[in-house]
Amino acid sequence: MKVMTNIRRLLKPNKICYIQSPIFIKKNPMRVKISESIGNIIKRLNETNQISDNEEIQQLIDIIALDPIKYSKYIKTLKNKYNVDFYSIYNDEEYINNPNLEDIKNQNDFLNFDNYVKYAKNIFNKRHIPKIKHINRKPISSDEVKKISEELGFNVKVKDEFVNGYYASFNMIDTITIPSNVDVNFLIHEIGHFFDYNYSNGYDGVANTITFASSSYGIGNRDEVFAENFLHYFIAPDILKSKLPIVYNELNQRIPNKFKTLITDLLK
Ligand SMILES: [Zn+2]
Repeated sequence: MKVMTNIRRLLKPNKICYIQSPIFIKKNPMRVKISESIGNIIKRLNETNQISDNEEIQQLIDIIALDPIKYSKYIKTLKNKYNVDFYSIYNDEEYINNPNLEDIKNQNDFLNFDNYVKYAKNIFNKRHIPKIKHINRKPISSDEVKKISEELGFNVKVKDEFVNGYYASFNMIDTITIPSNVDVNFLIHEIGHFFDYNYSNGYDGVANTITFASSSYGIGNRDEVFAENFLHYFIAPDILKSKLPIVYNELNQRIPNKFKTLITDLLK
């Protein structure tokens, strides 16, 4: 059970949704990559009888990874004191500056999450995906939403006040909050969040990987990337098929027919 603590607005004005949630807890990729590399380093130090302070090597690498230029003096320390070449384990800038669609890197290839996000943005730009237009349809009434919510298994809360226009939000558990009339695009995006949280337990596919985003919105947050991919599966299937066929196929396999039928009906 996720505990709602603070309300975090993820969207800038004029964007789709906001999520109420604790800050996302991400596995720290820096630790993962460094501990892999450190294994080899320590092995080598042991082989050459250099008994060293492993913890200090780890700390130095942690510091340098924050900003290799700013902390370049520690790169020298690492080299001089432990004969460890920082740049032999650090390829982030190369990946960021030369994104290759034929060889997509994953989070563990980067020393920190910020670098991975920079890389994902460059991958997105390189795909040249046309800006996907929202469907222009009259807003959906809350009664209509309640009807499909019973079929799909989420709760609906109707806002008393007209606070955020036709926007909707999701509480990261099972409730979608909407105004009395909701924009269909925003609603489908939120159903995407609901689907993600309730049907994708432990699922780690391309549709929720930030290097497979179909819009620039929310890159850096796998939850938003998934909700956008889910929305685009319904409103722009042809773009998804041509630009991200692997995402289209994955969603096509994973989304149950019940969702497909009811959401497609909303768009009519
Ligand atoms: Zn969202």
